[in-house]
Amino acid sequence: MTDLRGGIDLGGTKIQTVVVDETNAVLGEARHPTPTSGGPENVARAMEDAMREAAAAASVKAETLRGVGVGSPGDADGATGVVSGARNLPGWEGSFPLGEALTKALDTEVRIGNDVQVAVEGEYHLGAGRPFGSLLGVWWGTGVGGGIILDGKPWLGRGAAAEIGHMVVKRNGARCPCGRRGCMEAYAGRAAMEAKARREQAAGVETDLFKIMERRGRDRLTSSVWEHALREKDPLAESLIRRAVRYLGTGIASACNLLDVEAVVIGGGLGERFGERYASEIEREMMKHIFVSDNPPKMLIAELNDLGGAIGASLLITP
Ligand SMILES: [Zn+2]
Repeated sequence: MTDLRGGIDLGGTKIQTVVVDETNAVLGEARHPTPTSGGPENVARAMEDAMREAAAAASVKAETLRGVGVGSPGDADGATGVVSGARNLPGWEGSFPLGEALTKALDTEVRIGNDVQVAVEGEYHLGAGRPFGSLLGVWWGTGVGGGIILDGKPWLGRGAAAEIGHMVVKRNGARCPCGRRGCMEAYAGRAAMEAKARREQAAGVETDLFKIMERRGRDRLTSSVWEHALREKDPLAESLIRRAVRYLGTGIASACNLLDVEAVVIGGGLGERFGERYASEIEREMMKHIFVSDNPPKMLIAELNDLGGAIGASLLITP
């Protein structure tokens, strides 16, 4: 057995793996597309392959790793290793013992955590959150996820804490992908923004968003599609991003009024792409609602980027 640990970030489009040493330096990594058909068994096999490839890049065998941490979407139970309701993964509406399957496949200890929570812990220990004892992570992507660190420890609640995307920012407001109304995610999540853009276009609003999507060979409005539309000053793209920023600021302010954390870290697919550009606007919107306005939290952008989720997952195995 070595002192090396593995980390796997399981996403809806890609599986990112890393091998890190005891200082958390990345010695090997691999990225595979997430299977789009089959079921959890297929996904687990693709995760095994990607983990073995990262190990090979670090010149070790996966079996010699101290352990492998996994950041998973859906309801990830750290105690049992079971993942349920991972709806952006193929055939994963039910429950699957992911921890058990990977332990068997990789012949080492495997620990499962929530994807956003492990990414936020990565930022807390190794990234933008290092100087602080408390922080709120806001992961702005397909949905809007969150992670909370209080007094140096993750606050998980009963397992479902930090769902900042479902804080109500407007009573009886827009329909959220969760089925309720007025959630922050209903305005700021990429899936909700795409649904809104489609409705607007169907109602006759001019936009190049979907032309850009086709030109770039995509079947959904990815963060790069949004970026190109903004560069071309597409009015609908601009107004939907501005609206997202407004509600992000509103929701973050409410969360900060409740928790009084030292810092807010913005991450996720859209966060990484637009964070630098919009952090000051999100902050301006937040400041309108911050109760202790002479001592607001610091607004920061995630630093670990592409590998952050996998590195954060590797921290599930004690260094
Ligand atoms: Zn919701």
